[in-house]
Amino acid sequence: MSTAPSAIAAIHAEEILDSRGTPTVKATVVLRSGVHGAAAVPSGASTGRQEAVELRDGDPRRYLGKGVRRVVAHIEGEIAAALAGHEVDDQAALDAALISLDGTPDKSRLGANALLAVSMAASRACARQQRRPLHRVLGDPPAYRLPMPMFNVLNGGLHAPASSMDFQEFMLVPVGAPSFREAVRYATETYHAIRQLLQSLGHSIAVGDEGGFSPKLMGGNQAACELMVRGIERAGYRPGEDLAIALDPAASALHKNGRYQLLRSGNQLLDARDMVELYRSWVSAFPIVSIEDSHAEDDWDGFVTMTRQLGHSIQIVGDDIFVTNTRLIRHGIDLGAANAALIKPNQIGTVSETLAAVRLCQTAGWAAVISHRSGETEDAYIADLAVATGAGQIKAGAPARSERLAKYNRLIEIEAELGDRAEFINPYRTV
Ligand code: PGA
Ligand code: ZN
Repeated sequence: MSTAPSAIAAIHAEEILDSRGTPTVKATVVLRSGVHGAAAVPSGASTGRQEAVELRDGDPRRYLGKGVRRVVAHIEGEIAAALAGHEVDDQAALDAALISLDGTPDKSRLGANALLAVSMAASRACARQQRRPLHRVLGDPPAYRLPMPMFNVLNGGLHAPASSMDFQEFMLVPVGAPSFREAVRYATETYHAIRQLLQSLGHSIAVGDEGGFSPKLMGGNQAACELMVRGIERAGYRPGEDLAIALDPAASALHKNGRYQLLRSGNQLLDARDMVELYRSWVSAFPIVSIEDSHAEDDWDGFVTMTRQLGHSIQIVGDDIFVTNTRLIRHGIDLGAANAALIKPNQIGTVSETLAAVRLCQTAGWAAVISHRSGETEDAYIADLAVATGAGQIKAGAPARSERLAKYNRLIEIEAELGDRAEFINPYRTV
């Protein structure tokens, strides 16, 4: 047990609410120096089956069973006792202690939400103790690259059940912007142009879980891509050059009995190859640079076909299929099942394992896209994570709603802080 100033003196936790009004957990790590670091954990809706376990109380009398009082008790009890005296300077050792304390492969005993809250809060406490920004503590050697943002401006699927889109996310990617700050402006002006278009066509401008519009468009998914292009033009930008499109169909949710069911788009029933052909036709019709979860989490063959057919021209991202897990990403690399992985800290449950997943992608020549969850908090941790790892890409929802903007605003702040050293690169030129 260390008595150094950077040693943990106490850990507190609180049941707070996420952007959907669902409980989540916030942890505060207090060091012997008196310095504090706090962090809150997000929560997904279209989750991968192999994600680390998000523990909930299951008590129907509170928050529809979704309370996290047990998680709070685990943090303030077992975890606080085990980590007392641990120095936060060594994140790897701290995370290893958390993992072995839990003792299960899926972090189901103490909860991945318990472990991640403490892991993130410890790194924040470390940054405060060292008087350095979080991205400098997480990134070694120092990194100066701001991520290309993907703004989710049309929400469908599980994030907008009343919309006419089977596909979950239609994102704007400001590929032609010269800086992060300008990327935010390009996408936000286009978001407003899309709102005006929807209003002039008499459509709803209600938004889904990630702040994107969720209209009932005739023509479903394809009409959504057309609307994006019209929005880009209306805002005065050039489709494909200034702003491109990225998709996350989140196809696990569409997969039933070996087929993909597009219920909201004319009730189509497609197999894995039909899906590839559908994407191919869209890639030639629209300025698409990236498609995530084109196929379901257990459809490895579908992913391999997709990557063989389209991986030379666009980015193929795996989310549910890899769940930020190095074992699954490694398998994907061996099979050639994608050329990029989505990175969500709460899919795996500690900061160190998240960093390892990004490093594995980078070593293999894959891209890594740092990501929020559909249920978010005001914590902008992933903004610092994206800079620290030099991942080069982030998705954090629409340029609207404060839990989404917290991330983009934090990146604007980091870009200003880095000044002339800040780099901003179009990552798709090399795909
Ligand atoms: P989730 O969705 O946070 O609801 O899982 C995000 C995604 O699929 O990328
Ligand atoms: Zn996804």
